[in-house]
Amino acid sequence: MAKFVLIGSGLAGGLLAAYLGRRGYEVALYERRADPREGNMVGGRSINLALSTRGIHALEQIGIADEVLKHAIPMRGRMIHPAGAEARTIFAPYDVDPNKHINSIGRAALNTTVIEAAQRYPNVHVKFNHKCTGVDIDSPTAQLLNTSTSQPLSASADRIIGVDGAFSAVRQSMQLKIGNFEYDESYLAHGYKELTIPPGPNGGWRMEKEALHIWPRKSFMMIALPNPDGSFTCTLFWEFEGPRSFATTKTDDDVRRFFEEEFPDAVPLMPNLVDDFKNNPTGSLVTIRCAPWFYKDKVALVGDAAHAVVPFYGQGMNAAFEDCVVLDECLAGFPEDRQRAFAEYFQRRKANADALADLALENFIEMRDKTASRTFRAKKKLDHFLEAALPGIYMPLYTMVTFTRIPYATAAHRARIQDALVYAGLIVAMILLVALAIRLLR
Ligand SMILES: Cc1cc2nc3c(=O)[nH]c(=O)nc-3n(C[C@H](O)[C@H](O)[C@H](O)COP(=O)(O)OP(=O)(O)OC[C@H]3O[C@@H](n4cnc5c(N)ncnc54)[C@H](O)[C@@H]3O)c2cc1C
Repeated sequence: MAKFVLIGSGLAGGLLAAYLGRRGYEVALYERRADPREGNMVGGRSINLALSTRGIHALEQIGIADEVLKHAIPMRGRMIHPAGAEARTIFAPYDVDPNKHINSIGRAALNTTVIEAAQRYPNVHVKFNHKCTGVDIDSPTAQLLNTSTSQPLSASADRIIGVDGAFSAVRQSMQLKIGNFEYDESYLAHGYKELTIPPGPNGGWRMEKEALHIWPRKSFMMIALPNPDGSFTCTLFWEFEGPRSFATTKTDDDVRRFFEEEFPDAVPLMPNLVDDFKNNPTGSLVTIRCAPWFYKDKVALVGDAAHAVVPFYGQGMNAAFEDCVVLDECLAGFPEDRQRAFAEYFQRRKANADALADLALENFIEMRDKTASRTFRAKKKLDHFLEAALPGIYMPLYTMVTFTRIPYATAAHRARIQDALVYAGLIVAMILLVALAIRLLR
C-alpha cells in the first residue's frame, strides 16, 4: 500500500489520518507541537469552536461523531447583548426548527479525539515534536526537526499532504517550486483576544448556556461560547490600531474603562478581565487563497493550509473536515491515478473554499453591526417565515451553510437569487398596498 506522510496533526490532520488509515494506507503524521493529551496545548487559537452539520458528517463517516458530541454544548441561537447598561438581551434562534443548533466544542478535546481515532489503525503512526522545515516536492521528502532532541531527519513517502494550517510549510515549498502558483493572503485590520467568564459559584453557567452570545458594537464585537465546565470563552474582535484599539489600550484603567463602557453586563462576570487582557496573546485574522492545491501525484494541501478563512461563519474547521471527506472520496474514485484524484479534489473544493472566504468576511459585518438592528432581525424573521411556508424551496443562507452540506458556492448563489426574489416581492407588495390605499382614499 502507498505511504502517506502528513504534516500537521491539528483538527484536519488527525481526521485525515483516520480516513487514510481506514483505507489501509501507511500513514506517518508529523506534528511540531507536543501531544495534546499532555495538556499543554499552546498557540493562542480559539479554545472552543462551533461544530455544525458538515463537520459532524465528516466525524460520522469515521464513527466518532457521538464521542465528540458527548462533550458538546448545543447553541440554539444568538443571544444579542445590545449597547447600554440597561439594555435587555435578545435571543434570535438560528433556524425556524428549534432542534437545529450548532455545537460548542473544545479544541483540545476534539483534537485528541481525532488523533485517537487515527491511532486505532495500526498503520497510522503519529510523531509529536517534529517540525517540518521544508518539503522536496519532487521526491517527495519532508525535512523535519525533532524539537525534543534538535536532530534533523527526513521522511520520504509516495505522497505528502500538508495539513499544517494557515502558515503551512508544505505550501511554502510548493510556492517556491511551482512557477505559476497563485497565492494571496489578506489580513483584517482587526485582531482577536480570548478572555474568560469563569463558572458560577455552583459550577453553573452565568449566562444563558445554550446560545452564542454576541455584543455587537458596529466596528467591533465580543462573542462568548459556553464550555462544559460552566465557563464561557469570550473573544474580543477589535481594531489593532486607531484611537480606540488594542494599540491604545495599555493600562489596567484603560482596559476596565473600555469594558465598562462597551460591555457593562459582562464586566461583573469577568473577575480576571485585566489579567486575561494583558496576558493573552492578540491573534491576527487572515484569509488565504492559493492554487493549485496539489503537485502532480505527490503533494496536496488540506484545511487551512489550502484555504484559511476568518472565523465569522464558524466554518473553517467544518470546511477542513469536509475536505477530508472529499479527498477520501476522490482517492477511492481514482485508486490507480492519484494525480487525477488530487485534481478532482481540488476542482470540487476550490470554488467552495473561495465562496466560504467571502461569506466569512461578509458575516463579520453582519455579526458586529447588523445583528443589533431591528431591520436585520425583521429580515431573519421573514427568512424563517418563508422557510416554514416554503419548505425545501426557500432556505436562508445561514441554514444552507450551517445545517446542510450544500456546497458553499451553490449556497451563496442560491441565497443571492432568493434575496433578489424576496426584495422584488416586497417592492411589488408595497406598490400594491400603496395603490390599494390610494384607491380606498378616493
Ligand atoms: C479565533 C478563531 C475561532 C475559530 N472558530 C471556529 C469555529 O467556531 N468553527 C470552525 O469551524 N472553525 C473555526 N475556526 C477555524 C479553525 O480553527 C480552523 O479552520 C481549523 O483549525 C483548521 O484545521 P487545520 O487542521 O487545517 O489547521 P490547524 O488546526 O491550524 O492545524 C495545523 C496543525 O499543523 C501543525 N503545524 C503547523 N506547522 C507545522 C510544521 N511546520 N511542522 C509540523 N506541524 C506543523 C500545527 O501545530 C497544528 O497542529 C476558528 C479560528 C480562529 C482563529
